[in-house]
Amino acid sequence: RPTVVFDDVVFGYDRDREILHGLSFEVPAGGHVAIVGPSGAGKSTIGRLLFRFYDPWSGRILIDGQDIAKVTQESLRKQIGIVPQDSVLFNETIGYNIAYGRDDAGQDDVIAAARDAAILRFIEKLPKGFDTEVGERGLKLSGGEKQRVAIARTLLKNPPILLLDEATSALDTRTEQDILTTLRRVSRHRTSLSIAHRLSTIADSDLIYVMHEGRLAEQGSHTELLRKD
Ligand code: ADP
Ligand code: ADP
Repeated sequence: RPTVVFDDVVFGYDRDREILHGLSFEVPAGGHVAIVGPSGAGKSTIGRLLFRFYDPWSGRILIDGQDIAKVTQESLRKQIGIVPQDSVLFNETIGYNIAYGRDDAGQDDVIAAARDAAILRFIEKLPKGFDTEVGERGLKLSGGEKQRVAIARTLLKNPPILLLDEATSALDTRTEQDILTTLRRVSRHRTSLSIAHRLSTIADSDLIYVMHEGRLAEQGSHTELLRKD
């Protein structure tokens, strides 16, 4: 049964301007679903509603069958790991940045866990190891390297649902494909929702929803959508 359900969701930031006009879609458990559409279509708004930065005017959002209107932001953050477009790193070590937000264990334990986990695949391409300082006075990371650290941080929290909000959109195509290949290897059994404006980013999603002006315009697999173009 579906993990994430948007059921006839109506929402706007300002009372006089509706942004989502009765949006309904489902993300099946373990599925890799993507939402594409032009800038301003309402894609990022979906993420903000999922984390309850805002609540819908009407309609419901369900996670594992539960209406998130009854769920705290804190528990939503445990269920959904987000990777935004421009992840912010601290001027600290790579290890600190990866362990950040995991205060349930000591820093060293978390780093040890990261060394053992699939996380390594994300950072094995970094020029230096866990103890390297990054930022102003340390190592300058490229956009792709920063996103690798940010994805590692999110994966380490082991959220059942992964929300990639234009996570690779700012990167060049080669770096993007490189990161997507790694993501594919480590998230086969995870539910993921990718928000993107390039079709190439989401080529191997099981299901793609195309959004236009706050509505779903069409849906299908990557090949089906390309055929219609
Ligand atoms: P997308 O992610 O598809 O580019 P967004 O969900 O960011 O689209 O935005 C959808 C619409 O909502 C846009 O018209 C945008 O200007 C508007 N919008 C986004 N955030 C806010 C906000 N905080 N206040 C008012 N309008 C907003
Ligand atoms: P937070 O305070 O946690 O950033 P917000 O709800 O204020 O939560 O913002 C959520 C996201 O919406 C942020 O990424 C922010 O950049 C974006 N945002 C806020 N206002 C606007 C706006 N007017 N247009 C487009 N995006 C916006």
